Amino acid sequence: MKTTSIPRTRSAPIDMPADEFRSVGHALVDKIADFLSTIRQRPVTPAEPPSHVKAVLNSDTPLPESGRDAGQVVSRAADLLFDHSLFNSHPRFLGYITSSAAPIGMLGDLLAAATNPNLGSWTLAPMASEIESQTIRWLAELIGYPEPRGGLLVSGGTMANFVGLLAARAAKVPWDVRKLGLNHPSAKHLRIYTSAETHTWIQKAADCFGFGTDNIRWIPTDDRQRLDVVALRKAIDADLAHGDHPFLVIGTAGSVSTGATDPLREIAAVCRDYDLWFHVDGAYGGLAAGIAGAPEDLKGLSMADSVAIDPHKWLYAPLEAGAVLVRNPEDLRNAFSYHPPYYHFDEEVLNYVDYGMQNSRGFRALKVWLALQQVGREGYARMIEDDIRLAGAMFDAMHKHPEMEAVTHELSITTFRFVPEDLREGVGSEPIETYLNDLNKELLTALERSGEAFVSPATVKGRFLLRACIVNFRTSLEDIEALPEIVSRLGRRVDAEMRAEKLAS
Ligand SMILES: *Cc1c(COP(=O)(O)O)cnc(C)c1O
Repeated sequence: MKTTSIPRTRSAPIDMPADEFRSVGHALVDKIADFLSTIRQRPVTPAEPPSHVKAVLNSDTPLPESGRDAGQVVSRAADLLFDHSLFNSHPRFLGYITSSAAPIGMLGDLLAAATNPNLGSWTLAPMASEIESQTIRWLAELIGYPEPRGGLLVSGGTMANFVGLLAARAAKVPWDVRKLGLNHPSAKHLRIYTSAETHTWIQKAADCFGFGTDNIRWIPTDDRQRLDVVALRKAIDADLAHGDHPFLVIGTAGSVSTGATDPLREIAAVCRDYDLWFHVDGAYGGLAAGIAGAPEDLKGLSMADSVAIDPHKWLYAPLEAGAVLVRNPEDLRNAFSYHPPYYHFDEEVLNYVDYGMQNSRGFRALKVWLALQQVGREGYARMIEDDIRLAGAMFDAMHKHPEMEAVTHELSITTFRFVPEDLREGVGSEPIETYLNDLNKELLTALERSGEAFVSPATVKGRFLLRACIVNFRTSLEDIEALPEIVSRLGRRVDAEMRAEKLAS
């Protein structure tokens, strides 16, 4: 082995002298500013096949043996990403529930990385911990979640919902579940109640945390995809009669497919009557609960024991930022806290390690905190209202167009489908419905590939629909009004290619 002397003064290859950091950083900021100002002129996505993306990257290149100039590495990364990405910050990106990223959030992530606080413990992150705590309080105020309360930032809605579920488990399972786990004769009788419109996080959670998906009771919905509270009571009564252990009911505030909100107040009353934990998945719609025209049901999230919200959705925070709020902060400590001998943390202060699943934690709160100050409650109310009104305008525009069928509009989600004029009469009957499903599926793919606009799918009452969700502060009426023509032009093309083969006349 070669022996080298220990350097007396260190010049590590990963360090960057201040001048170099300045010039590489300034060049990057310039590139990002140019990218943001030209985003509208770019396609939403280049829609390149994986083989092409791999080739552009030279994905087979082995691990570099020696280092390269930092400026070149960073500059190449920016070029690769700007030229070969799907841009959810594009004004015509209306897919899934993925928002355009707030520029101030980009700076926030840079600053967070620069100070690099570890928010597991207050000692390791004094100011950052207090900023996170203030962020949680402001988020609660924004959505009208009353005191007392606590919570923390997590990676997203799925994790926020997981935390809510684990708090419910510790609080309501009638044995020491943290010690015995599900190794208890009654474990298979634990019951979770929710509707089939609930985001798939619940299956993941029931599976990952050992309950099993069979322990979920799927409660039917009404014709607006809202949980049926009468059916909920019946299901709980039936389970109790069988000796089961109901412990958790989940309500959705803004469902992922159509934006529907469950009757949260009524669900809260059921949970009170039966002493069950009430968790609200408000990952998307929860953030609209505080605005003037919010649906009455949405405000019922104030009655929940825990609420999941996603600042990386309707607060336009860059990924990742989810948050969970709880009525009683002790419920989080009761679900997560341990005190190993190798931590020297002051018990009197806020050590987030005691409140959630992570140990070392990054400073996700900063980008959210900055944006809350940049725009205030008023700014968010205006942007969220505009998104909702644009979704309404989209519904109207689709309704007016002779080849479009507008189907639902809730919050900022509108669903619709393409129906060729000569097939209008056949809507609701077979084989036309099956054909329309096939046609709209192909049309969705064609639209994605076009890069002209981006929407995602929803299935409502067996119908395959296109779905636009506007959580995008760059989308304007002009973008909305352009959509019916873009979709019908591609729809006609796809119909011409498919009709003869798929629909024998
Ligand atoms: C987006 C969403 C989730 C999942 O959130 P992630 O941030 O993607 O993990 C859960 N529930 C609802 C209602 C959502 O809209």
